[in-house]
Formats: sequence, C-alpha cells, structure tokens
Amino acid sequence: MIKLYQSKLLSRFSQIKHFFSSRIGGFSTGEFAQANMSLKSGDSHALANRRLLARQLDVDLDRFVFLKQTHSNNFYVVTEQDAGKGAFEYQSAIDNVDALITTRKNLMLIVTTADCVPILVFDSEKNIIAAIHSGWRGTVKKILARVLGFMFKNYGSRPNDVYLAIGPSIGVCCYEVGHDVEQQVIAAFGHDKFLDYRDGKIFFDLWQANAAQALNFGIPQENIDILGLCTLCHNDKFYSARSGDRGRQLSGIMLI
Ligand SMILES: [Zn+2]
Repeated sequence: MIKLYQSKLLSRFSQIKHFFSSRIGGFSTGEFAQANMSLKSGDSHALANRRLLARQLDVDLDRFVFLKQTHSNNFYVVTEQDAGKGAFEYQSAIDNVDALITTRKNLMLIVTTADCVPILVFDSEKNIIAAIHSGWRGTVKKILARVLGFMFKNYGSRPNDVYLAIGPSIGVCCYEVGHDVEQQVIAAFGHDKFLDYRDGKIFFDLWQANAAQALNFGIPQENIDILGLCTLCHNDKFYSARSGDRGRQLSGIMLI
C-alpha cells in the first residue's frame, strides 16, 4: 500500500476523489525508495507504483491524465479523449502545460512534484476541478490566478463555491532562495510579505503566495486548506528535489 494524504476540506465532498501520494509503500528501491511515480526518472518500478496507486484508488490507470510540466502558467481543459495520456509512458503526456481543468467525470487530473506546490481545486456548485503545479516560477507567473480567472470567466464560478487544497511541498521553513527569485517575487506581488528574511538568508513562502492568489478572487480563507507538510522537513515521507531526490510524488483529483 502506498501511503496517501488527503485534504480534510476536500474530503467533505462526495462528488470528488482526491489524493496526495507519498514516498512510503510501493516497489522502488535505493535512491527511489519507495513509491516513485516518475516514468522519466530511470526507475524501472515507477509504472508498477502507478498501477498500485490506481488499484488503491479504485480508478483505472487509463483514466489518469498526466502533464509534461514546464514551470509555465499554461493550463489545459481536459476532455474524454485525453484519458490515459502520459499514464503508461511519458511521451504521450500533455506537453508544455502546468495545470489541468475539467468538468468531465472519471478523469483523474494529475500533477507531479517534489518540493513544488501541488494545488487541487474544486467548484462544488459548477462541478469543476483543477490540478495545478506551482513551483516558484509558476507562483510568480500566478498560474493559480490564471486557472481561477478561467473558471470564473468561462464557467461562472463564484468565490464561496471554490475550495482549494495546497499539498505537500517545500515550506518557508526550508525554501531558501537567492536575490534573483527575491526580485521576481517582489516584482510579481508588489511587496515582500511572502519573503522571510532570517539568519542573513531569504526564504520564500510558496503556500501563502499561492493562497493569496485565491484570496484575491474573494475565495474565503476557510475554503483554502494548506496541508502544511514540508517535503524537505519530512523527507522520510516525501520526495524533495532540494535533498537531491529524483523520485516524484503525485497529486490527483477526479469528479465521480
Ligand atoms: Zn521545512
């Protein structure tokens, strides 16, 4: 069994299934141990781990939809014909996109991370879901705001109906950045409130910088669940790129 995490907030809704995977359980050994999901990592057990995950979730792997993430702010609306893309081999994943949106049932929207922020979104009235990959580049490019803007404009989402979970990713406890990132954060947000200056170093709060994008749309604070799990602090439970891991965990959401 692969150890999975969930958002208490999203778990309230019977219209969706969602998960955040960990590195615990699964078949991978050595540096990839144990539940690596990345097919391009060179780990021969990654596909078996995905099959195990799919069985645990009781969702066929050919209903999963994967991305070739590029730290862009591009999103893509998933349709039935996208089912299974990237699920069994990296090559067929949807290219140059960092967020997936759909109103269709039985499509498991997936993002792949190790330190970057996975964000799962659900509109409980319009029945829209999104999965977003937001590292520091996606955060300063405001990919979450772009996805929410699309949902509000195209589907008529209303702030009180939209719920978000900000999954396991590197926290401000550990995410030291350089002056180049510092300058881009200040340029993007117009202030340095998401930067923490301590011990002569600069740390970036990805969780708050993403939550702020939702708050700007009028989404209530209580609709935003920050799991608060730092992938580097909890490197025993999650892959962390900063620690040198080449393994990756998945986050997914599906309308049922
Ligand atoms: Zn940490």
